[in-house]
Amino acid sequence: MRSYTIKRTLIGRLRQDTDLYDGISRIVLDNSVRIGRISGIGAVRRAAIAYYNQSEGRYEEIELDQPMEILALNGNISMKEGIPFAHLHVILGDRHGQVRGGHLLPGKSPVFACEIFVEEFDGPVLVRKTDSTTGLALWPTATIL
Ligand code: ZN
Repeated sequence: MRSYTIKRTLIGRLRQDTDLYDGISRIVLDNSVRIGRISGIGAVRRAAIAYYNQSEGRYEEIELDQPMEILALNGNISMKEGIPFAHLHVILGDRHGQVRGGHLLPGKSPVFACEIFVEEFDGPVLVRKTDSTTGLALWPTATIL
């Protein structure tokens, strides 16, 4: 277990039609945030998310080709292959209030409007490495609680 304090919080909104994942990733990279947390709300014109098939060890893409509310956007920032990496999950709602959710994919979710917080932490940086048990790029075993 590692201990962190909040170093700073970036608050802003993404420009319309910016990709949701890529826009946040750009903020993380431009501000050199190496360890942190992301949250946000808003709406997208459409979205692509993924479900990790645990038995097959691969992501299955889910396309949502309609305007959706971003009811919750949550994620973390750590290091992967030498650069800051944002891992983001979203819960999206349609016009009937029905929700879909999953792992946010890059490049396929243009923003209608989105307000975000990016919290940068003071403390040891975490580096993602491929975990043979899950097949995922995860934090080191020293962070297992
Ligand atoms: Zn994920």
